[in-house]
Amino acid sequence: MAYSYEAPVSQSLFDRASVVTPGGVNSPVRAFRAVGGTPRFMVSGTGPYLTDADGREYVDLVCSWGPMILGHSHPEVIAAVQEAVSRGTSFGTPGEGEVALAEEIVARIEPVEQVRLVSSGTEATMSAIRLARGFTGRAKVVKFAGCYHGHVDALLAAAGSGVATFGLPDTPGVTGATAGDTVVLPYNDLDAVRAAFAAHPGEIACVITEASPGNMGVVPPADGFNAGLKELCAANGALYISDEVMTGFRTSKAGWYGVDGVRPDLMTFGKVMGGGFPAAAFGGRGDVMAHLAPAGPVYQAGTLSGNPVATAAGLAQLRLLDHAAYAKIDAVSAELRSLVGDALSKEGVAHTVSAASNMFSVFFTDQPVRDYEDAKKQDVFRFTAFFHSMLEQGVYLPPSAFESWFVSTAHDEQAVERIAAALPAAARAASEATA
Ligand code: PLP
Repeated sequence: MAYSYEAPVSQSLFDRASVVTPGGVNSPVRAFRAVGGTPRFMVSGTGPYLTDADGREYVDLVCSWGPMILGHSHPEVIAAVQEAVSRGTSFGTPGEGEVALAEEIVARIEPVEQVRLVSSGTEATMSAIRLARGFTGRAKVVKFAGCYHGHVDALLAAAGSGVATFGLPDTPGVTGATAGDTVVLPYNDLDAVRAAFAAHPGEIACVITEASPGNMGVVPPADGFNAGLKELCAANGALYISDEVMTGFRTSKAGWYGVDGVRPDLMTFGKVMGGGFPAAAFGGRGDVMAHLAPAGPVYQAGTLSGNPVATAAGLAQLRLLDHAAYAKIDAVSAELRSLVGDALSKEGVAHTVSAASNMFSVFFTDQPVRDYEDAKKQDVFRFTAFFHSMLEQGVYLPPSAFESWFVSTAHDEQAVERIAAALPAAARAASEATA
């Protein structure tokens, strides 16, 4: 597919990057392979806008994949970072900032009695799984197809061809032995979870699920699904791990827990809590967390865990996220959902706008989407055309049909107007696209 607009500086940076970095990027989806074209190299961000190396400005609906919930370069976050940096960047000792951030998390999210800080969501889920295995003395982990928990070996297994049995490694480098303890099940299917517990009595350490999935597009849990998982885990001596790396501190003040109130044994966090820096966490029941070194025998560590600059950024961001901030984000999200839906309807494009609190995505199908198999049935080629039209008109969407769109408190009327102005042509492009 040829695109009518160009990004010569981004292209030359991408060419340089491709020499020294595999695929030219440090995280695959950034390479635009799902949509084609030149990935934009961004040089700055202010509020709801990003500016690329060619000097073009975009309304940003990715928000760094979730973290930038106050928009870019929020003055209070920047000031907190500058203050922290002025005192040094890493000490390898405990510091007050990490205590304050842990206190903030514990205060917001009632099931979290204790929390351990790490540097990425991947580390958080990896460590939570290890802890669950150490605590229960069991090996198997249940996860759901279409849920992403970072690039933890055991969690990269997804169901091959919808087969809800033992996980098959999704990527070379993950051995059959590693993936063999992972049971992959279809999302939103409690019967499958019941069957897995029956098939593996006394073997399942934990069930891990995205609190409300955003990594197959936004597919919220069906009514009672999370509560059912919790019940089945409790009845079978397994831990219920809610991965809130994406939803945490985004979908409400207490994340998805604040929405559905289902009490997990362990939870994982990242993205928003780092304020744009590498900070993440896992936490939960005090008796489980007490098994973690040095209090207990399950080892877990990190040179930069609780880094003073990252914790200062995260704390500043969280402290600004009060109920009014969430009300604002929810309202912008609702407005955008209706604008997108109207534009696509006007052009007769089959679509489903799927939302979980203020997270949302658009599936290019009019069929209900309850799991990954449903999500894959959409007309991805229509998304591709829609994406490029929006990009050309200065709106930066996630470069994949299977990702959540993110908004921030900085998405004001002017930003929404720019998006609204771009939608009719993008909807037309989607309607005219061919497979
Ligand atoms: N868990 C969920 C639900 C995520 O969305 C992600 C990342 O997108 C991760 C875990 C991994 O986090 P990170 O990319 O910080 O390793």
